[in-house]
Amino acid sequence: MSEKRTFTMIKPSTVAEGVAGAILVLIQEAGFRIVAMKITQMTPQQAGKFYEVHKERPFYNDLVTFMSSGPLVAAILEKDNAVEDFRTLIGATDPAKAAPGTIRKLYAKNVQENAVHGSDSDENAAIEGFFFFSGLEQF
Ligand code: UDP
Ligand code: MG
Repeated sequence: MSEKRTFTMIKPSTVAEGVAGAILVLIQEAGFRIVAMKITQMTPQQAGKFYEVHKERPFYNDLVTFMSSGPLVAAILEKDNAVEDFRTLIGATDPAKAAPGTIRKLYAKNVQENAVHGSDSDENAAIEGFFFFSGLEQF
């Protein structure tokens, strides 16, 4: 995966609300091309691995339970400056601090159920993308 790509998940509570399609429209209207996408569910063990970097944080166990609680939409997105521009589009982790018009401001319920994931670096975008998609599934 090149530096023009980032990885996202539409989180389980947000998929359950039926707004994944609306969020994908916002993502595409912001100029991101979807180069891989699937609906899938992580086991607790897989969610624990995905968020391993946070394992010492107080919210880790709840986060793992939440992220494995139901199906999510995983996708790889392509755009110039993808990682930074996507973080801008989604807004701050805590929706109370997210800028107006951002996806989290529009769709997050709270700091945990904050609608979407976005990679925080090119390196993590590649690691996270390959966690969900083989090379043959990335277009
Ligand atoms: N999270 C939480 N409580 C916190 C901080 C984070 O439940 O105080 C959850 C939230 O779902 C967040 C995820 O853990 O999206 C990963 O946290 P991170 O700091 O990496 O935020 P992000 O990169 O998603 O903005
Ligand atoms: Mg993060």
